[in-house]
Amino acid sequence: MRLALQYCPYCGEQDLRPREDPQGAWECADCRSTFVLTPVPAPARGNP
Ligand SMILES: [Zn+2]
Repeated sequence: MRLALQYCPYCGEQDLRPREDPQGAWECADCRSTFVLTPVPAPARGNP
C-alpha cells in the first residue's frame, strides 16, 4: 500500500518522487529530504 503525498512536510514543495528503498519512502526533489509515511489507523468512534 503506497500512500500519495502532495506536499513535502519540510519545504512544502510538490515535486516528490517515490523511492523503492526504503519501502514507502518519498524523496523531495527540492530539498532532498527523504521521509517515510506510516499509515495510522483512524481512532475508533462510538466504542466506549
Ligand atoms: Zn522538500
